Amino acid sequence: MQIAERTVASFHYTLTNDAGEVLDSSQGREPLTYLHGASNIVPGLEAQMAGHVAGDRFAADVAATDGYGEHVPELVQIVPRAAFAGVDDLEVGMQFQAQTGQGAIPVVVTAIEGDDVTVDGNHPLAGETLHFAIEIVEVREASVEEVLHGHVHGAGGHHH
Ligand code: ZN
Repeated sequence: MQIAERTVASFHYTLTNDAGEVLDSSQGREPLTYLHGASNIVPGLEAQMAGHVAGDRFAADVAATDGYGEHVPELVQIVPRAAFAGVDDLEVGMQFQAQTGQGAIPVVVTAIEGDDVTVDGNHPLAGETLHFAIEIVEVREASVEEVLHGHVHGAGGHHH
């Protein structure tokens, strides 16, 4: 069976950046399982999965715009430490929800200098060209319920 709309695919992946550094990998874990056509994975990778079958191994390069987006400088802001009242031991790497005009977005603290706390609302991989090494493990038909919900049920998916 080929990966197409209304199929569920499981795959192993290793993700590297332009420098060849491994950013993420499913090796040693369960494969990632997703519902094709439901934007469960980044669009640039989803497009290149189509037509593949179990056992296929291939490389997929994804530009930032088709991955986690370009790095948006406006999403990096310096806020006063007082904005974190009630947070003990504020540290670089801590994540918070920031209220914005577009709703709550996750931000991470990237620097602390005196009273100035820098937070970044970009995805950690924003601006990166993504290099995936993919191995398709399994392709099956999606259930009607999975298609309606827009995600995978059971192994590797939602349990509800
Ligand atoms: Zn569901």
